[in-house]
Amino acid sequence: MATLAPLPDTTKEFINWSWEQIAPYFAELAARPLTATTVNQWLKDWSNLSELMQECSNRLEVAVSQDTADKEVETRFFNFLDNIQPKWTTAEQQLKEKLLASGLEPQGFEIPLRNMRSEAALFREVNLPLLVELTKLGTEYDGIKGAQTVNWDGKEITVMQLRPYSSNPDRNLREKAWRAAVDRNVADRQAINALWQKVLPIRWQVAKNAGLKDFREYIWRSYLRFDYTPEDCLRFHDAIEQTVVPAVKRLAERKRAALNIESIRPWDMNSSDMSFGANVDPKARPPLKPYQTATELEQKAAAIFSQVDPELGEEFEMMRRSNLLDLDNRKGKAPGGYCTSFPRERRPFIFMNAVGIHDDVQTLLHEGGHAFHVFETAHLPYVQQTNYTMEIAEVASMAMELLAQPYLASDGGYYSKEDAARATAEHLEGMLLFWPYMAVVDAFQHWAHTSGELALDPANLDAKWGELYDRFMNWQDWSGLDDAKVTGWQRKLHIFRVPFYYVEYGIAQLGAAQVWRNSLRDQAAATAAYRKALALGGTRPLPELYAAAGIKLAFDSETLGQAVELIEETLHKLDA
Ligand SMILES: [Zn+2]
Repeated sequence: MATLAPLPDTTKEFINWSWEQIAPYFAELAARPLTATTVNQWLKDWSNLSELMQECSNRLEVAVSQDTADKEVETRFFNFLDNIQPKWTTAEQQLKEKLLASGLEPQGFEIPLRNMRSEAALFREVNLPLLVELTKLGTEYDGIKGAQTVNWDGKEITVMQLRPYSSNPDRNLREKAWRAAVDRNVADRQAINALWQKVLPIRWQVAKNAGLKDFREYIWRSYLRFDYTPEDCLRFHDAIEQTVVPAVKRLAERKRAALNIESIRPWDMNSSDMSFGANVDPKARPPLKPYQTATELEQKAAAIFSQVDPELGEEFEMMRRSNLLDLDNRKGKAPGGYCTSFPRERRPFIFMNAVGIHDDVQTLLHEGGHAFHVFETAHLPYVQQTNYTMEIAEVASMAMELLAQPYLASDGGYYSKEDAARATAEHLEGMLLFWPYMAVVDAFQHWAHTSGELALDPANLDAKWGELYDRFMNWQDWSGLDDAKVTGWQRKLHIFRVPFYYVEYGIAQLGAAQVWRNSLRDQAAATAAYRKALALGGTRPLPELYAAAGIKLAFDSETLGQAVELIEETLHKLDA
């Protein structure tokens, strides 16, 4: 083989390379002899190439979301997806198999190897078309939801466009919008039942092809859930029922009294189902107004991060200087917010659609936590070591939201003391409210994927969802709303598109609550441990990552109960 020119240092030129230009570098790695003495250099070269590839992919994706009207960028991105991505995936797979076949165990590579072994063991050629079929059925679900419109004051609007009414202080208006949204969903009941009846047997087949007992076992392996079991999740549900549900009942009762209403209906308090009734303010105060311009949003976040930890503040300032933030909403931007990374430069990038509301502050603090995770892992030699799962990634982000709370009103912060207290209370209430709904969604899926044919019958699915609502959501009054209640599973996109993907948030939230508890005792020590855990990237098993952060990967009622107690105590203090 002719000697290859060295790879470029950045993606500047590389992003324009064709697969024909890239392929020889993968081929050379695939051909190079692999021994104990050559493996470190081989890994380093593989990592460099992967970093360049991943950064190109991420940069194109960012560019598309920054200007959805730019057809040239879109064409380049689609070209990457169609002509480069599949070949890249195959080439990466070859290198993974080569490393596995070598039997070598390079230091610091134990966990990436564990993941590769698991992926290789799960892989079945015959499952590829089935997985594509599942993705397509997921798109069908989106299609049904996307076509849902309602007649609202004589105008045809989408169900999504009812969202602004969801927290309106006018209770009748909230109810009207909630009913319009739910009725429209219930109208698609048969269509979604039929879709589910297509999805479930394919999932069975995928599991069977992989030689596994059921689809839950398949998901456990596919999501790399090595450190907890389905039984742990069921234990977590029990713990939520015992400790969180009573606390939410007390919270709901206080809210009911303050709002001076007979009972809490689904449009009065956010249950995460339709996201209705979030933060309805009994005092009917105007919404929080944290900042005017995106520059102000950035400056104040920088001030807060610096108070959490001066080095984190410096990292965020670096993002500001280096054009790694695109925060303000403008025409042509894709919706939503995210943090991605540029792996070659080992730098994060945050994208948002800020419009001047408190949600933007919360989102930036959250994405900031993800961004710090990228900075903290920049020292790891191989990019494969920076792949970590959601259970720790969301600790980085959710804990940062909590670590930042004390500084919302301090020097350079967003709020007066009173407004900061209100923002913190809303956040803590949101945490409490999330766990029970998460338990419903997760428990439902455990049942649906371990009950065989029973889970094909919509009547059984409805009954199970209703039963779980009675168990976890009984602080809400659903009387007279039976159809809306039992079809709630049809409104949860995860069940159709990303099965079982949800408990991660509940687990990580308990981790974040523990980081916060530690910070109230010793802020500096808690932040240092948090950073230490992040810096390990994906090189250690989850329980060790949690332990490094000074917290426990936990599913038990004792750990959860302590978190709930702290949240309730703090809510009482903020109320006073
Ligand atoms: Zn996140």
